[in-house]
Amino acid sequence: MIENVIIIGGGPAGLSAAIYLARADLNPLVFAGSPPGGQLTLTSEVENYPGFESILGPELIEKMRNQAKKFGARIVDENVLKIDFAKKPFEIMGSVPNFLSSSGSPPPSGVSQVAKNSSPSPIKSKSIIIATGAKALWLNLPSETRLRGHGVSACATCDGFFFREKTVAVIGGGDTALEEALTLTKFAKKVYIIHRRDFFRASKIMQDRVFKNKKIEIIWNAAVSEIIGEKKVEGIQIRNLKLEIRNLPINGVFIAIGHKPDTDLFKGQVEIDEKGYIKILERRGTSVKGVFAAGDCADPYYKQAVTSAGTGVEAALEVERYLESI
Ligand code: NAP
Repeated sequence: MIENVIIIGGGPAGLSAAIYLARADLNPLVFAGSPPGGQLTLTSEVENYPGFESILGPELIEKMRNQAKKFGARIVDENVLKIDFAKKPFEIMGSVPNFLSSSGSPPPSGVSQVAKNSSPSPIKSKSIIIATGAKALWLNLPSETRLRGHGVSACATCDGFFFREKTVAVIGGGDTALEEALTLTKFAKKVYIIHRRDFFRASKIMQDRVFKNKKIEIIWNAAVSEIIGEKKVEGIQIRNLKLEIRNLPINGVFIAIGHKPDTDLFKGQVEIDEKGYIKILERRGTSVKGVFAAGDCADPYYKQAVTSAGTGVEAALEVERYLESI
């Protein structure tokens, strides 16, 4: 069996593409990743997705998944492990559900949990949409790695609850950092934001909310040089512009310093820029004809859920045109 289109990624880009391609009767197969859902599943309230005045990130993803399944998209919560775009049809290797490796048997619609074949053969597809998104960056301090899950986190929504009436710090000056800090004020008694400049790059509305919040104290022009604590976070060492170092006693630290596109799998297969983003040549097309890209994996500028969804739709429409042309 040769698939019409495989979508790699289960965030807003991949799922928007799936909705369009399913409604076009092209029976898309989505590898949504493990765990599925991308960055929106790590976000709390989303207030800038048109149609929803306020919705939780994981709920928004669930709605997108259900909508795609309703029209017949098959969603598998697995990672793709290997790809070969030199072959036509393209080949994808992953934890392959049994229904795909059993030759030609009609796959059920909306599948998300299925038995896996232990020695899978590649899945073949006429076209591909890469929508693998981006992942949170870390400071890369040994103490940060050691204490991850013991007071070091990149997700206030997931871990904020553990810091009720405690003191925490958020590192970064973008929208993610400010959103994390605001989320943490619901639990913690005090939230520091530590930022390496004297201005934020976050949106004005988020800055206004942070400046108004009495639980938040901003430490400008400071970098974290160490996270202190043996078994759990007890403080952080911060360095100012004069290279003076001081210890700040805290119970938890949330790293929110940006993201890296999740494109390692595609190195050597499609053209990727120096920052790791997939290069779009024209109309969501990559350097390989029949392989398209959408969302944060190909977007160094906008990185919004709604722009990702939009480019997912563009990629889906281009796949339709491409399949008609071959
Ligand atoms: P970002 O905008 O790239 O901001 C990253 C922040 O981390 C910057 O302030 C940067 O400092 C700082 N930083 C980077 N490396 C660092 C390091 N090694 N040490 C200390 N600080 C470091 O990333 P983001 O906040 O994750 O946002 C990404 C995109 O998602 C943005 O377009 C944002 O608007 C969007 N977003 C939107 C929402 C929303 O609208 N609800 C929520 C979250 C994210 P510099 O300023 O010095 O570069």
